Amino acid sequence: MNYIDIHCHLDMDEFDADRQEVLARMKEGGVVAISVGSNLEASKKAIEIAETNENIWTCVGVHPEEISKGIFWDRGSSKMPFDISEFKKLVKSSKVVGIGECGLDFFRLDPAFAKATADKQKELFESQIQFAIKNNKPLMLHIRRAYDDALDILNNYKKNYGEKLRGNVHFFTGNVEQTKRFLDLGFTMSFTGVITFTHDYDEVIKYIPQDSIMSETDAPFVTPVPHRGQRNEPSFVIEVVKRLTEIRGEDLETLSNAIIQNAKKVFDI
Ligand SMILES: [Zn+2]
Repeated sequence: MNYIDIHCHLDMDEFDADRQEVLARMKEGGVVAISVGSNLEASKKAIEIAETNENIWTCVGVHPEEISKGIFWDRGSSKMPFDISEFKKLVKSSKVVGIGECGLDFFRLDPAFAKATADKQKELFESQIQFAIKNNKPLMLHIRRAYDDALDILNNYKKNYGEKLRGNVHFFTGNVEQTKRFLDLGFTMSFTGVITFTHDYDEVIKYIPQDSIMSETDAPFVTPVPHRGQRNEPSFVIEVVKRLTEIRGEDLETLSNAIIQNAKKVFDI
């Protein structure tokens, strides 16, 4: 194990044509991964892939944008897309190492339904926080344009559940103040290929202690330099780790080992 991609989506259609080759390139590069589900169907598929590949683990959950699509409340339905009885079956797999991706995403809220959508997203998020605590799993968080709202919710649970509330903030783009608050909660933060083509997160990346930082690709999305223009895949995570070392002034072996240890600790892999 040389590198870990703690957040990718190997279940997605983008990998249907060459999934085996993608997995072979990971093996070749010593790259292991956590493939994350974003709804019930995707979570089931992610488990299938994890159960047939030694070096793949998975998180199961429902992405907040499942609500932004408006399909659940727009029709007057009160049913949540997080069906606890279904997810209860999924967490029985030994390959399920976390709950998510779940969280809040206020980036593209339809202005006509913004408040209602945000409220439903919070409800969906809290049901998954409670589920993670109950099943003693860490959270894989997806938070966009909603860090302070998410932190307020998480802090409330921290007060009642302490160490039982834990996890990682995927695709982290928060500021130093928000970073501090996540560190106080004991959460790690992971970075994608975005850091290979912008300096926007350099300050935060330098600020995070070595025991709280992680690497990911979010493949098939956000391909790192020098592979821009191609579909992203987990073996490209090396470019993310390299960039992290440049920003932080650390050597590759030390940081990649530290990240693997961090992932083992948070996700118990
Ligand atoms: Zn994702």
